Amino acid sequence: MLTHAHFDHIGAAKRLHRDIGCPVHVHPDDAYIARHPYRYAHERSRLLYPAMYPRAVPVLAGMAAAGALWVRGISDVVPYEGTGTLDVPGRPVVVETPGHTFGHCALNLPNADAVITGDALVTLDPYTGAEGPRIVAGAATANSEQALSSLGRLDATGARIVLPGHGAPFTGGIHSAVAIARTTGAS
Ligand SMILES: [Zn+2]
Ligand SMILES: [Zn+2]
Repeated sequence: MLTHAHFDHIGAAKRLHRDIGCPVHVHPDDAYIARHPYRYAHERSRLLYPAMYPRAVPVLAGMAAAGALWVRGISDVVPYEGTGTLDVPGRPVVVETPGHTFGHCALNLPNADAVITGDALVTLDPYTGAEGPRIVAGAATANSEQALSSLGRLDATGARIVLPGHGAPFTGGIHSAVAIARTTGAS
């Protein structure tokens, strides 16, 4: 299950698909990025951020060391709709949260009182090194205004445990995480 198809979120997908034949699910609006993991819309230049935010350098270097610059795309994906419960282990409920990418979806796990927010809400922004609940910087976000507006859909899950794509889990509840992210705004 991909929340979205950025290169740092599909790393193992192609290998898992090839080696054990497991299907790779992604929202149709991110299928193009899944094929071309480095071709995605973003509001601001990716190159400026390490200079503007030195705290981001070790985070980005760690991602590069883990192979983030050499990810291969995957074209054999199974599209999923932006709503409903998925018939996969854990039975996640899809929460369409466009903005970071246009096909971004969070995965709500009501039985676990947890929501996988992907990059719709993170607790560490890899592009600024800033910590705490927030949307990802414009270096990797297609539309910050839309991303901020999608926070309402995360809020509606009411989940206690927030599992972001970057940074530590946040156990203070999604309501509080969304309130902080809204106050922090875009960067
Ligand atoms: Zn992302
Ligand atoms: Zn990411």
